[in-house]
Amino acid sequence: MSKDGRIWLSHTNIELLERCPRCFWLAINKKIKQPEGIQSRLASRFDKVLKHYFNQYRNQDALPPLISSELSGKLQNPFQETYFYQHNNKYGFYGKLDECLVEKGDLYTPIDFKTTSSDPREKDILGAYQHQIDEYVFLLQKNKLNTSGYGYLIFFYPDMSDAVHEGFPMVVKIHKVEAKPEEVEGRINRAISFIEGDIPESSPNCPFCSWMNTAKSYYDLDL
Ligand code: SF4
Repeated sequence: MSKDGRIWLSHTNIELLERCPRCFWLAINKKIKQPEGIQSRLASRFDKVLKHYFNQYRNQDALPPLISSELSGKLQNPFQETYFYQHNNKYGFYGKLDECLVEKGDLYTPIDFKTTSSDPREKDILGAYQHQIDEYVFLLQKNKLNTSGYGYLIFFYPDMSDAVHEGFPMVVKIHKVEAKPEEVEGRINRAISFIEGDIPESSPNCPFCSWMNTAKSYYDLDL
């Protein structure tokens, strides 16, 4: 993303750097991105449905029944989805929250919805999810909001049932994640050092570049 002359980094492209510095470098410096391929849009449909559901409770004192037995506070009203941080004259960082809880009057807590195909009651939080909460808390703080210092990941997992005709059962698992916003600036600086350096090596774990290197000799053939 580029606006006001800055390069605007996000959680998604900083995580891309973790997976492959070369793909990150190509995406930012040359606007060459990996093709998306065929992807399920089910998760984004879930997000839309959940945001609509949460929105109905924004003007009420009560939290949505899906989370009210475990969480307290109110939904941020009005909700601000996108937050920006101007790192310097050349770079910025931005993020989009799914939802935000305001606890004890003025403590802001980011919420992210996760639709999952594996049981969230039995697994640890991915490093990328920890980074996401770090970054949301960082952005809230940079936008002069008091934060609780943590965030919530709310996992939605379709459960097994003998009576799906009565409604699709859904496991809702809330994970509290202690945020480390002090680590975000370092990750932004690391990303900038890659952007400003030479093109890095390909990741040895990604099949695409090795496929391209093997396949490209055949493209010169006159078929
Ligand atoms: S190895 Fe190649 S295709 Fe794979 S992520 Fe890296 S640059 Fe992209």
